[in-house]
Amino acid sequence: MKAPVLFVHMAFAALFALPAAAQQVAAPPAPAVTLFQNVRIFDGKGAQLSAPSFVLVRGNRIERISATPIPTDRSADTVVIDGGGRTLMPGLIDMHWHAILARPTPAAAMADDVGYTNLVASVEATDTLMRGFTTVRDVGGPAFSLKRAIDEGLLAGPRIFPSGAMITVTSGHGDFRQSFEVPRTVGGPPTRSEVVGGSTIADSPDEVRLRAREQLLLGASQIKLTAGGGVASPHSPLDVSTFTAEELRAAVEAAENWGTYVTVHAYTPAAIQRAIAAGVKCIEHGHLMDETSAKLIAEHGIWLSTQPFPEEMGDALPPGSEERRKFEQVLKGTDTTYRLAKKYKLKTAFGTDVLFSQALARRQGALLASLAQWYTPAEVLKMATGDNSQLLALSGLRNPYPGKLGVVEEGALADLLLVDGNPLQNINLVADPAKNFVVIMKDGKVHKNLLNAGGSNPPAQ
Ligand SMILES: [Zn+2]
Repeated sequence: MKAPVLFVHMAFAALFALPAAAQQVAAPPAPAVTLFQNVRIFDGKGAQLSAPSFVLVRGNRIERISATPIPTDRSADTVVIDGGGRTLMPGLIDMHWHAILARPTPAAAMADDVGYTNLVASVEATDTLMRGFTTVRDVGGPAFSLKRAIDEGLLAGPRIFPSGAMITVTSGHGDFRQSFEVPRTVGGPPTRSEVVGGSTIADSPDEVRLRAREQLLLGASQIKLTAGGGVASPHSPLDVSTFTAEELRAAVEAAENWGTYVTVHAYTPAAIQRAIAAGVKCIEHGHLMDETSAKLIAEHGIWLSTQPFPEEMGDALPPGSEERRKFEQVLKGTDTTYRLAKKYKLKTAFGTDVLFSQALARRQGALLASLAQWYTPAEVLKMATGDNSQLLALSGLRNPYPGKLGVVEEGALADLLLVDGNPLQNINLVADPAKNFVVIMKDGKVHKNLLNAGGSNPPAQ
């Protein structure tokens, strides 16, 4: 048996051998260098802007921050951006995003060819970045190829922490089948939603393990389950708890063996409490939670990844429909949830959960600004940057972008926004990114610059 094995090895060696000329590796190009001068920094952690400062970015990292001028190597290709006293802050992070599902209608998401769906999502990804969101955590949808293309520089878009398909039970939130598609045979052909990778059904601990591990194989940085009923699913009353404790534990074990964590969609106290008992590290939504659940979240140090849903979100659902009624119930709980989050000092993450609406996706920054109903501008910005990045870090070695995100500090990844004005005084600046984000940098690369490089541009007040 040895000879054939050797033959195979030789064949592979031949396949990967490079021509002699290609082996003479050229010196790598010098990393891009950008110097921001005269900027006041919101660092993603504190509540104040810094004194006028200088920030040097080399390659994809923040190399130096100084209150005094930083000399630049004039022989290097240094882009100098004179901030004119404007605010430099970390790129925004949306912890509940669906990169593939943000724009198409539900019918299109189910019926269209996956290639077309990805092309639509790629345009939305560029728009997302140009709204100042340099990172998103994708909590359901086949975003792996989109992520890869962005990471390879084929198109402009945010960093994506993908969950892949969200895992649900038969009849749960994410089971989008029509009644004529029942019964499903265990081991039978996949449903349409499973084929496209939007959601996947699991009805036993073993099936949960299989589906979770499939997403990890595909590159998931965390696993998403739906632990209770949902708004947009046809067979899923809000009050139900779906996965059993044993099933939830199977997912947690599979994720933790892989060095990462499980986050669950859960609105109700029952769904939240069962998930916490099973070792889940993050609750998505929580809009119908009560005091007991809030206390439990606090005691266990669990993250609450909740969203300030706007009323218009209901417009995508037919008036008078069961889905619309469920949305209104969830909407009513939003205020209570933020009050409980503040009362019990919960580790709270910001996200939007925009689905099926380009118009709503355009309001991503406005949704962030709407948190000012409950928080100071500094708290709002910290939540969408430094705080969110701490939840991202739970992905451990499955974090696709090792390095610090969501902060402006030496050594951190260079995802930066230059804001025309002071968002700590006027949070609504983030609601109009086209006008107010005059520079957008991701991974050290300038994707937008409305200032003349090297010129002096007095800030508008
Ligand atoms: Zn969602």
